[in-house]
Amino acid sequence: IIDDAVYLIDHDMVLPHLRQRPDDSYKGSFGYLLVVAGSLGMTGAAVLASRAASQCGTGLVYLATARSLVLPLAAHLTEQVMVPLAENEAGGISPLSLPELLPVLQKSTACVAGCGLKNTEDTRSIIRSIITNAECPVVLDADGINSVVGDINIIRCAKNGLILTPHYGEFSRLTGKTVEYIAQNRVALAKAFAQEYKVTLVLKGTTTVVALPDGSVCLNKGSNSGLAKAGSGDLLAGIIGGLLAQGLGINEAAICGVYLHSQAARLTAKRLCKTSMQPSDILNDLYLLFKELD
Ligand code: AMP
Ligand code: MG
Repeated sequence: IIDDAVYLIDHDMVLPHLRQRPDDSYKGSFGYLLVVAGSLGMTGAAVLASRAASQCGTGLVYLATARSLVLPLAAHLTEQVMVPLAENEAGGISPLSLPELLPVLQKSTACVAGCGLKNTEDTRSIIRSIITNAECPVVLDADGINSVVGDINIIRCAKNGLILTPHYGEFSRLTGKTVEYIAQNRVALAKAFAQEYKVTLVLKGTTTVVALPDGSVCLNKGSNSGLAKAGSGDLLAGIIGGLLAQGLGINEAAICGVYLHSQAARLTAKRLCKTSMQPSDILNDLYLLFKELD
């Protein structure tokens, strides 16, 4: 404990929460994650989030994305089940797809929405439907977060828990505070937000602040400039979603996800180097963290 209910995330805090894999388990034992991600020009976000979830042990990952992107994405995703959705003229998902999307949401044990979507009226409408219809916990990232700016009270409507994973820019849009002010007051602001809206907030940065609805705060230290690259956040969203789908609670999934992401990236920086490492390289080091559980 650093301060009044501020904790540092470490190995001992995380390890007991990760799922064991009993010999007689089957894919249903490890949950079904729905990833709603990707649009024309931002297909990689969908690949990274989906693969990260699979490599964290999720039973089955559905990737729901604009129909014309499904075939090109399939070249990069062999284990995921594609859910092709009606698309709009911008190459994003159209709300006309909701009758196809919502039944998949109903059978999923967690949902990640937002990576590589676009901040359009169509996206906002889909994100609103996901928040209000989901019976499972939901992770909102990127344009999933931007979609609730201006309609912030909708995040109170989630039935079974919501995790938001903003970086400072997204948190700035969400709260109306400047990035500088957020950087100086990140713990207090994250804590106040999580308490006020009863969500789990992952405020990403060099130090990431995980603020829980009960007012407690966990910090993940581990500066790694190798993570300062497009795609790093998509990986984190997929990891957290995969843990949620497997049955971890929302707070545990957020804390463990942030830790696994940063520890895997630490190993990748050592194996490769901070300059050249890519988010997809980090996927190849995740197993080293899970090996201890085998
Ligand atoms: P995003 O901006 O959404 O792609 O998310 C970036 C991810 O990389 C977050 O999880 C950040 O915490 C992490 N990250 C970026 N830069 C650094 C850094 N210098 N040190 C540690 N983590 C970082
Ligand atoms: Mg991001």
